[in-house]
Amino acid sequence: MALDSKSSSGFIPCYYFNILADRGIESFENAFFNPVKIEYAMSDAEKNYIKNEIVPDKIEDIKTISQSDLKNYYLCPKKYEYSKLTGSEEKTFFTKGNLLHAFAEFYFHYPDEASENIDRILEEMIKQYKVFFKEGNMAAERTEFAVGMKAIMKFIDSKLFVKDKREDTVEGKDNFLFAMFGKERIYSNTELKFVNLKSGINGKIDLISGKTIVDYKTGRQNKTDATLIKEFKPHLLTETSIKDVNFQTPAYISGQRDNFEKEEIEFIYLHLMESRDKILKGNEFEIDYSFLKYIPMTFKEYVLSEGCFKTLNSDFFVRVGYQNYKRIVEEKFELIDFYDLNSIFKELEDDFCTFGFQELKITLKEFKKASEETFRRDIIQKSLKQLSSVRTDVRKYPFIFEDDIDSFNELVKKMIDEINDNSKSDFPNMPALGLRNICRDCDYLNICINNKFWTGVEIEDY
Ligand code: SF4
Repeated sequence: MALDSKSSSGFIPCYYFNILADRGIESFENAFFNPVKIEYAMSDAEKNYIKNEIVPDKIEDIKTISQSDLKNYYLCPKKYEYSKLTGSEEKTFFTKGNLLHAFAEFYFHYPDEASENIDRILEEMIKQYKVFFKEGNMAAERTEFAVGMKAIMKFIDSKLFVKDKREDTVEGKDNFLFAMFGKERIYSNTELKFVNLKSGINGKIDLISGKTIVDYKTGRQNKTDATLIKEFKPHLLTETSIKDVNFQTPAYISGQRDNFEKEEIEFIYLHLMESRDKILKGNEFEIDYSFLKYIPMTFKEYVLSEGCFKTLNSDFFVRVGYQNYKRIVEEKFELIDFYDLNSIFKELEDDFCTFGFQELKITLKEFKKASEETFRRDIIQKSLKQLSSVRTDVRKYPFIFEDDIDSFNELVKKMIDEINDNSKSDFPNMPALGLRNICRDCDYLNICINNKFWTGVEIEDY
């Protein structure tokens, strides 16, 4: 039984129901609940009892935290507390996402068996899904499953992942497909649980092979690469919408990088549902994924490295030469905001221009330019733009540097300390940036007595 509204304002059902039904559930009047109307007004005594007498158990000190808990805590400490009190979001029931993750794991282990029995597996997945999701357009659901499965198969086949044999086989009973085919987990690459005390991170990785981490996304939203690189930087979060805040990328890299000696790590998000929309629009099937790369150097080390210099496609920089490039950039490095092209121009344009004309005796004719103005715009600024793209490159894939992860780890440590302090007293109702929109979308709005839904700041694009 659930209260649907109070003082003409509707209550939002817990997010759990969205997961269970695998669709947006915005009120308790949704057919999913078989609603029955009962009119009831809570007495003052009952309200006071809830406010004063129900004191939740305090949360134990933690040493590590998952990326989803980090997100909850960042969005609002109270939200984190509620999520802990209402239980883990670890799901054992059959949502679309869980079923496709199960298929991905099974296909990685037994591609031949999975391919030969693909129709049978699809039917079984639909059957399991229908247990919780009886209504709706099953033909459309079937298409989504089929597209998701196809994307998984194509992706795994195309990447030729190295498979690491387990020393001991492990039962796969928690994955219904392993149980259905009487198979065991024979590789250690999938559903890898980790706890890293040094970084303060714990988690579960969908797939890891060599230096490649893969995460399957079953939601529709395909983050842009620019968002992916910005999303974990607190100073950028305060300047932009925080709707997409996601600590997953730095958390997984942070939790895994100690396993690799100063090596690059590739991170791939495979977007399983993006292909469906393209197919429905009549386009060819294609796998949709985003890349990020961890560079085991600080950003400064990388920008000043010969490796970076060689990637800058510029005849002017070739004339300048690596050592001179390094010296000029290093002198101004601390003054530059590499996210801001104007800052790069302001600090470096004159220096490179002066060096070119005075030291290298470059002539405008050499670069086929009629004036210094066009030389600066078409040659110097064009070369410098590439320095900006080292930080925010959306053409290929973004880089995440060693010091990005170091500063992320500091943030994690600070959050863990705060959580442990709060658990000894109380978690404040403090939506990030004071945004009422965070309360509006919060799964716990209907039980959160001191929410900021009415008093917070409104930001339309949140
Ligand atoms: S409703 Fe607002 S204040 Fe309450 S837990 Fe959610 S985000 Fe925090």
